[in-house]
Amino acid sequence: MSTLVFLEHHGDELLKGSLGVLAKAVTLGDGEVAGVVIGSGVRSLADEAGKFGAAKVYVADDPQLEAPLPQPRVDVLAQLVRDKGIDTVLFGNSVLAADVAAGLAARLDAGLNWDLSDLVQEDGKLVGKRPALQDSVYVDVGWKSEPRIALFRSGSFDPNAIGGSVEVEDAPVALEDFSVSARMVDQAHEESEGPSIEDAPVIVAGGRGLGGPENFTLVEELAKALGGAVGATRAVVDAGWYPYSTQVGQTGKTVSPKLYIACGISGAIQHKVGMQSSGVIVAINKDSNAPIFEFSDLGVVGDLHKIVPKLTEAIKAKKGS
Ligand SMILES: Cc1cc2nc3c(=O)[nH]c(=O)nc-3n(C[C@H](O)[C@H](O)[C@H](O)COP(=O)(O)OP(=O)(O)OC[C@H]3O[C@@H](n4cnc5c(N)ncnc54)[C@H](O)[C@@H]3O)c2cc1C
Repeated sequence: MSTLVFLEHHGDELLKGSLGVLAKAVTLGDGEVAGVVIGSGVRSLADEAGKFGAAKVYVADDPQLEAPLPQPRVDVLAQLVRDKGIDTVLFGNSVLAADVAAGLAARLDAGLNWDLSDLVQEDGKLVGKRPALQDSVYVDVGWKSEPRIALFRSGSFDPNAIGGSVEVEDAPVALEDFSVSARMVDQAHEESEGPSIEDAPVIVAGGRGLGGPENFTLVEELAKALGGAVGATRAVVDAGWYPYSTQVGQTGKTVSPKLYIACGISGAIQHKVGMQSSGVIVAINKDSNAPIFEFSDLGVVGDLHKIVPKLTEAIKAKKGS
């Protein structure tokens, strides 16, 4: 097997999601696993990838690849797959990765399985695990032909910093005319502190039970004390209490932190599907019959306005001691 992992970067950092996919590919332990970094001024990222288990990293480093646009990346990947006889290409989900994976599948007439949460070897075949029916079952999915392309759900795998050296090889950059006809006019970045909701090991999420946008400071302070990120339900996002980028659920983000603390959240199915694969789920809700308690590991029945500040203080005190 010859596997290629798309190593996405933002600025001078490789994304945790793609490093997690790299770690998964390495643990499958079947054949060569290479990474590919595509961008402008990205050579140093190849060495970084070596620390996370890539034995080989292809680098496509060209000013034409500066903007995070999908089609030029599809050109680079399609040529690599053909030239190197790669049979499996893996992506960690992101807006860019989803576009690139779809474009690559179309270009190579290859099968793409998306929203996978795992990949295993069964009877000598690669089998993807895909949550379905609002995450209530896992479906086994496969590929009828090579190359196989897979896109994994955010947070499916943790990166594994195992150290080691890496062989770096230049990947040719020959772009199609139609691939350079789109131009990035502007790029805006949200100002935020702390880890992003996709990468955070801890998420403290707030719902309508907070009572008003001003009370989001309660979840923000708890998240800060735990080194985590803030999440929100659609009800509060729709009400304009918190930004859409933090919405967890069916029409928001799917997250799987190690710890998810739900404050004043009822646990509607549309919220549940976005966070139920979290490691430990803690719910704080004044209604002991709230559905969230049906899938929480730990439930606290009570008023979040009293409980959350005490919890934050206790964590700060513990960290300070
Ligand atoms: C097509 C579709 C897609 C959707 N997508 C999403 C999605 O992506 N994400 C999402 O979250 N929702 C989504 N929803 C909406 C979802 O159905 C729920 O309406 C929403 O999740 C409810 O948000 P909530 O838990 O904040 O509010 P509520 O359901 O109003 O729950 C508030 C909770 O706070 C508790 N509470 C109140 N006061 C306190 C207090 N002082 N202390 C402690 N607890 C308190 C209450 O007991 C209650 O359980 C979607 C709906 C549809 C139809």
